[in-house]
Amino acid sequence: MSNTTLKNQVAVVTGADSGIGKGIAIALAAAGAKVLVNYVHNQKSANEVLAQIEKAGGEAFVFQADVSQEPEVMKMFAAAKDKYGNIDILVNNAGLQKDAKLVDMTLDEWDKVISVNLTGQFLCAREAAREFIKKGVVEGVSKAAGKIICMSSVHEVIPWAGHVNYAASKGGISLMMKSMAQELAPHKIRVVGIGPGAIQTPINKEAWDTPEALNKLLELIPYGRIGKPEDIGNLAVWLASDQSDYITGTTIFMDGGMTLYPGFADNG
Ligand code: NAD
Repeated sequence: MSNTTLKNQVAVVTGADSGIGKGIAIALAAAGAKVLVNYVHNQKSANEVLAQIEKAGGEAFVFQADVSQEPEVMKMFAAAKDKYGNIDILVNNAGLQKDAKLVDMTLDEWDKVISVNLTGQFLCAREAAREFIKKGVVEGVSKAAGKIICMSSVHEVIPWAGHVNYAASKGGISLMMKSMAQELAPHKIRVVGIGPGAIQTPINKEAWDTPEALNKLLELIPYGRIGKPEDIGNLAVWLASDQSDYITGTTIFMDGGMTLYPGFADNG
């Protein structure tokens, strides 16, 4: 393999059987990391990600866990440790939407999104941090004892009518990520966020699968194209690597300019 930026490092990627998580798992493996490919329902897709990684000469294994369930998260981290001996990188990616207008939103729809998107990230980050603190910095592997990458969204700053549960989960991730970064920096653990704009995945299929929908979406993207999982994969590799060793406690938006409020481009 030509790119060995993450050689001898182990990464846990949640929700890695689809979309952005899949792109990240493949990119981390291509950079030399050994990857736990987490899935919750779709084992077939997870195995396809594994096959793609192995075909490219990388190393990975698949593991089923629901990130909102504490015992399953603990088993997942134990499995990564058993298999590879240590853990260096967590990509807290798993997430979902249950959209409804505020007045129609059920408590189940609220609870489900908060428990996967926010509580799931807390549970995984806690297990990763426990492991990183125990391990400390390993010379020759990485300058940091560990890296935690939290998948946020442009909706950690852009309000989103019809999605109050999702926007609340991403706003929550922002301050959870910063608070964890503050607490963990003395342990040489970096915690960062990625704020994707519109990335072409199953989660937002209705926003890009017809030319009319895509044109409407592109009005929100000054750079004029929808993002790809590979875009986010490249950023995740960089954020996990020592090249970004001085970055902690901030969200990097990767959104083709969606957070530039394009509605104001012609004077509002
Ligand atoms: P996706 O639907 O393709 O992938 C989501 C993944 O999360 C799937 O693999 C799914 O199985 C997994 N998942 C859901 N619930 C889970 C659970 N309880 N335990 C473990 N895994 C679970 O969507 P995506 O676009 O790839 O989304 C990935 C992340 O990126 C999410 O956190 C999402 O909020 C975020 N995001 C996506 C976009 C976008 O435009 N696609 C933009 C901003 C943020």
